[in-house]
Amino acid sequence: GYDDNYLHEDTYTETHLISEAFNKMLGRQKVLNDSRQEFVANVSHELKTPLTSMKVLADSLLAQQDAPVELYQEFMADMSEEIEREDKIINDLLSLVKMDKAAAEINIKSENINELVERILKRLRPIAAVRNIELVYESFRPVTAEVDEVKLTLAVSNLVENAIKYNNENGWVHVSLNADHKFFYIEVADSGMGIPEEAQEHIFERFYRVDKSHSREIGGTGLGLAIARNAVVMHRGSIKVYSQMGEGTTFTVRIPISYAA
Ligand code: ADP
Repeated sequence: GYDDNYLHEDTYTETHLISEAFNKMLGRQKVLNDSRQEFVANVSHELKTPLTSMKVLADSLLAQQDAPVELYQEFMADMSEEIEREDKIINDLLSLVKMDKAAAEINIKSENINELVERILKRLRPIAAVRNIELVYESFRPVTAEVDEVKLTLAVSNLVENAIKYNNENGWVHVSLNADHKFFYIEVADSGMGIPEEAQEHIFERFYRVDKSHSREIGGTGLGLAIARNAVVMHRGSIKVYSQMGEGTTFTVRIPISYAA
């Protein structure tokens, strides 16, 4: 059902289970390592990784006397990439923290959803073109709904960006908008690699990535879907995934047309 995925918000990860078992072994009643602590550990790790790379790059340049300018250029280009990565992680974290339940603010206005989706796709079209991915949009009916434009844009952008990122060269991404009397639906379908069945319940967790190295390579932070889900849940909506390995993935977002209802 629609609610399946965000029920897993507090799903214990493997690490958590191991530390729990360890704590029990030690006879501790209280499990200290809660998900917040795990989140902080993950954040530190993710933020440190690009810094470590930059430090290595800088140090190895400094260690060489008379390094040729080409080497400087190469290492500086690598450092620039690491800085970009660090920036992306920080931006994603800020988006996520802003939407944390306790502090969350939502700015609801009546918006033309069709135009909102078109604005997102216009911005992402060049990225799809580079990978030769066909990006198609179909609106089944005009939809005006009460939403937070910034947050809904974040959610849909992340879904479409993923559909492009985890796709094959020459693949397609189909985005559609539909509505009934109560909800509107945004569907993002892709012809990509798919998500393994056992991973599907975890993909909305912060920092969860199916294939860590592959995801990092294509610029993933592991926060995109956590952000998307938070944004959708803040609209009292839900998000579900359907995926078949080797065939593709479809995310469906369902949000009430009226926020107050
Ligand atoms: P990332 O920044 O790594 O893309 P996300 O939170 O956006 O993080 O997604 C979590 C993981 O879910 C990704 O690392 C990827 O393994 C998987 N994933 C997300 N969207 C798709 C998709 N459309 N097709 C295949 N795998 C996907």
